[in-house]
Amino acid sequence: MGSNETPGWRRLNVGIIGGGIGGMSAAIALRRAGHLTTIYERADFAGEVGASVSCAANGTRWLHAWDVDVAKGDPVVLRKLINRDWKTGEPVSVYDLDDYEKRWGFVYNMFHRQFMHRMLMDCALQKEGKGTPSTLHVNHKCESINLDTTTITFTNGVTAQHDIIVGADGIGSAVRTAIGIQPAKRPAEQSCLHTNVSTEEAVRAGLVDYSQNSALEYWGGQEGKWDKIVLSPCNDGKLLSYYCFFPREKGDYATQTWASEDRPVEELLAPYPELDRNVFKHLAIGKEIRPWRLWLHDPYPYLSRNRVCLLGDAGHPMMPHQSQGACMAIEDAAALGILFGEDHFRGDIDEVMAVYDDIRLPRVTRVQAAAAKAAYNINERIGFSVNKNISTYKVEDPKKILTIEEMNAYDMHKDVEEQLAARRGEVFAQKFIRGLPIGLELPSGVIIGESN
Ligand SMILES: Cc1cc2nc3c(=O)[nH]c(=O)nc-3n(C[C@H](O)[C@H](O)[C@H](O)COP(=O)(O)OP(=O)(O)OC[C@H]3O[C@@H](n4cnc5c(N)ncnc54)[C@H](O)[C@@H]3O)c2cc1C
Repeated sequence: MGSNETPGWRRLNVGIIGGGIGGMSAAIALRRAGHLTTIYERADFAGEVGASVSCAANGTRWLHAWDVDVAKGDPVVLRKLINRDWKTGEPVSVYDLDDYEKRWGFVYNMFHRQFMHRMLMDCALQKEGKGTPSTLHVNHKCESINLDTTTITFTNGVTAQHDIIVGADGIGSAVRTAIGIQPAKRPAEQSCLHTNVSTEEAVRAGLVDYSQNSALEYWGGQEGKWDKIVLSPCNDGKLLSYYCFFPREKGDYATQTWASEDRPVEELLAPYPELDRNVFKHLAIGKEIRPWRLWLHDPYPYLSRNRVCLLGDAGHPMMPHQSQGACMAIEDAAALGILFGEDHFRGDIDEVMAVYDDIRLPRVTRVQAAAAKAAYNINERIGFSVNKNISTYKVEDPKKILTIEEMNAYDMHKDVEEQLAARRGEVFAQKFIRGLPIGLELPSGVIIGESN
């Protein structure tokens, strides 16, 4: 670095446990902030999940801020969110994303998970770009952490000591256990099977070419029902990734892992006798049918302890229904990059960890709660949550809906400055509260800075 002006700033040796989307993002953000980063991954990525992952503007903005080569992710830029009638397939609620980039500065990307992961990993490890390239050790599964010495012990017998440790080890996090969190969790009332459909094959079979819509499309999800089909086009539209939800009583996959054997197509189709035949026929040619186990975790009380913090699903696993899991992991990483960056870090790790909790917990907890609600009511889903003029629109509390405005108008730099000032007993005089501009009226009617 050499150019930093902040007294007390020092280069840290950071250990990152877990080399998924969150771990790679943390490595990028922290190397760019001037630190040395080592990623420890339990696997070797051979079994990476073949499914889509969406990245709305609040995630995409950081990819650009970090000079990630987004084209490597071969994304589909989403143009619409479409909710269709379960039986007829007719659109019920449509949210247009045509002005999305103009409004928010960044597009809504749909990636294939393996491509997104590779894109992030390349950026973390490559020589080019700001900071020192990260080091990756695969086949290093974290077993335990000594919180006093910040030392990791791996199941292969290796130990490693770091100045700070980032636990990006996913929903079954070992780091979470190490910092004393026992999740209150239960299987969701909903099950999910995922399948991939090749657009080329579908078109060859004379089926509807959904790739033309460049849309995230949903069948059902209304009226408190657990049944829902989610279609996400990725790889420039060549692949259609389908998430198929149904009540758990119709098939319980709560204890099955993604890495299990492919399921027979009959099992995928069985819960859907009344589903729109156009999409049903797509599912009938689906490949790689795998269960995605769904668990609800109550929010955790904290994200960090001593010099160890959680990031991504390790810190806030959420239901998939707001498509924000990856974005929240990316935002966590961005927060660490800013907090440990040359503008703010004065060498006090405890202070940074406390502010990380201050800024991340409220935001991720809100998204987590909204994701659980959207599981059985698509009107609670960001985007559809403002389509109030459709006949089936009904939400739990109109003042509490989560909207695109709240997600994308959020300025993390301002939030960091405000919370750091509070910790330091300094005055924060800018016209922002928790990263949102004072006076901004959200579609819920809530005006930032006014008591509602
Ligand atoms: C099939 C599927 C589809 C999804 N679709 C979407 C979507 O459309 N939009 C969205 O926003 N989110 C989606 N998500 C969720 C999103 O992928 C996650 O929220 C996001 O990847 C979180 O990243 P993470 O790095 O925290 O966890 P992960 O990506 O799960 O990475 C955790 C990593 O830690 C490693 N690890 C685990 N334990 C250890 C250990 N003890 N030691 C070392 N390494 C360990 C794992 O091998 C893994 O590589 C999807 C998830 C799945 C499974």
